[in-house]
Amino acid sequence: MAGHDNDLAAITAVAGRLARAERLLVITGAGMSADSGLPTYRGVGGLYNDGGTDDGIPIEMALSGGMYAQRPALTWKYISQIEQACRGARPNAGHQVLARLEKGGRQVTIVTQNVDGFHGQAGSGDVIEMHGNLHQLRCPACNHREQVPDFADLAIPPVCPACDGMLRPRVVLFDEMLPDIAVARYEQALAQGPDMVMSIGTTAVFPYIAEPIRQAVREGIPTVDINPVASPLSRAVDHHLAMPAAAALTAIELALATSGLGETAT
Ligand SMILES: [Zn+2]
Repeated sequence: MAGHDNDLAAITAVAGRLARAERLLVITGAGMSADSGLPTYRGVGGLYNDGGTDDGIPIEMALSGGMYAQRPALTWKYISQIEQACRGARPNAGHQVLARLEKGGRQVTIVTQNVDGFHGQAGSGDVIEMHGNLHQLRCPACNHREQVPDFADLAIPPVCPACDGMLRPRVVLFDEMLPDIAVARYEQALAQGPDMVMSIGTTAVFPYIAEPIRQAVREGIPTVDINPVASPLSRAVDHHLAMPAAAALTAIELALATSGLGETAT
């Protein structure tokens, strides 16, 4: 099959580039966690195939900052449904490969749109969660913070143990701004000058995702897009692997190990 030959050639080429990379920037989206069984449409809305909710409003509206300001209990209802659908899911082989690439001695900075916390759980040390983390709760009134493994023991909406206010998950809702700290860390990572950029499972519709990749292309820095579906971005990069994230990363790691270029340069 010609398609498989092409994939193999691309995987070998990516592994060769990776063997020489010292500062890898990885941008991950919903497709990264698809192999863990998480819904991919914007990471959350995949549970609502017709786009509607049983409250008769679009899921994007139910999960918006504007709705949370007016009817937080309604937003919480859908956040907790999503959490329940994802409960028990674990980091997949792709997350593990990225963690091992870092342990192999190179700098691996991960910028993720996902709120599942899987990169950190898999052992990656330099993770920028652009949209926050579903399992980190914060009280806007008194700044009490806590981390929960899941929402199983949580009253919905949860009450702050310190001031009886309402806790909210530290996630970026639709129509909300990206957190300043995440943006600053992302800009710092870009300023350090990655020598290879990978986009995994993201459709890169947001300029803050797409632009750094296009910038890398312009500067001649090796670029890779791993996504079963082709996008304008995948046509712009050096290598597009039309594969699921876990399969592609596992194949790249294998090629890296068997090419003699492997993880010896620690
Ligand atoms: Zn409080």
